[in-house]
Amino acid sequence: MVIRNIESIEKATKLTMVVFDKTGTLTIGRPEVVEIITYNLPRDEVLALAAAAEKRSEHPIARSILEAARKAGIEPPEPEDFTAILGQGVVAIISGRTVAVGNEKLMKGFEVNIVQAEKDVEKLREMGSTIVYVAVDGKLAGIVAVADKPRPHTREVVETLRRMGLRVAMLTGDNKVTAYAVAKQLGIDNVIAEANPEDKVDKIRELQRRGEVVAMIGDGINDAASLVQADVGIAMGRGTDIAKEAGDIILVRNDLRGVLVAIRAAKGIYKLIKLNLLWAFLYNVTLIPIAAGVLYTSYGIMLRPEFAAAAMALSSISVTLNTLLLGRGLVR
Ligand code: ADP
Ligand code: MG
Repeated sequence: MVIRNIESIEKATKLTMVVFDKTGTLTIGRPEVVEIITYNLPRDEVLALAAAAEKRSEHPIARSILEAARKAGIEPPEPEDFTAILGQGVVAIISGRTVAVGNEKLMKGFEVNIVQAEKDVEKLREMGSTIVYVAVDGKLAGIVAVADKPRPHTREVVETLRRMGLRVAMLTGDNKVTAYAVAKQLGIDNVIAEANPEDKVDKIRELQRRGEVVAMIGDGINDAASLVQADVGIAMGRGTDIAKEAGDIILVRNDLRGVLVAIRAAKGIYKLIKLNLLWAFLYNVTLIPIAAGVLYTSYGIMLRPEFAAAAMALSSISVTLNTLLLGRGLVR
């Protein structure tokens, strides 16, 4: 664990709510293609076009589609043009054809009619899959269902946080049905779904306005702004650099149990800082006046330089000792 912002320590002791991003944070972030259904074009062509469009994307969904193409022995062509639309998907030009790969919002933006896929989509989402639509020249060509495994210890971390008296929520750009299905598997009942990156910041702000002191845990570019907005931003160590730049605390080992360690450590560190301040204060409040000679006229007590030096050393020793005790878990 790396603490980049010491002010977050005090806030971490006052948390009321912990908000997790879904993809890449609660889940491993290595989704796999579990189903491909095509409507108006052959399967291999749809997969090749989708993979070509995703070639330059860094999104985990992109990697899963490229992997599926590779497994099918497809060598996707180079896109002539490529644009990533944050929180929605990608658009690319491939052999003169416009290929859009992404969620419902992206399809809406390109006025692609998706009713043909409705039934398949609902069924796959209820199983927790994320649906990726593939449109070619403004026409729906197929859907790719991807699913992602929960990160190890997720349930246990959620439960422990709740026992610590904290509310736990999932915040995701993914569809509501998918998000609720995944949340249910993880024991989370508080779900904020279909939030694009700006919505994510607004949601955090809204929670704060309601008086929540919020920790946000995320991994992606799409989480960076909300990590900054949160009272305590915690970035996954293997997340994107932008997320790590935005975080107050970084979980180097990418283990969600680090969230518990961070909150507990913050409490310990905060107590220690207060304890050290108290000791330093006591030394100064008693010894400075003595050194200044307030007891000299009535009692003849004067702080001799060698005792003053010893007191100085003692104060450092108490700080060091407290710190060591914290390390051994003796100061709580
Ligand atoms: P999350 O909040 O779950 O980490 P994002 O904000 O990154 O998700 O994206 C929100 C949604 O946008 C995804 O669930 C996916 O449907 C879609 N999306 C984003 N990028 C891509 C991409 N490169 N390819 C396909 N779909 C994408
Ligand atoms: Mg993510």
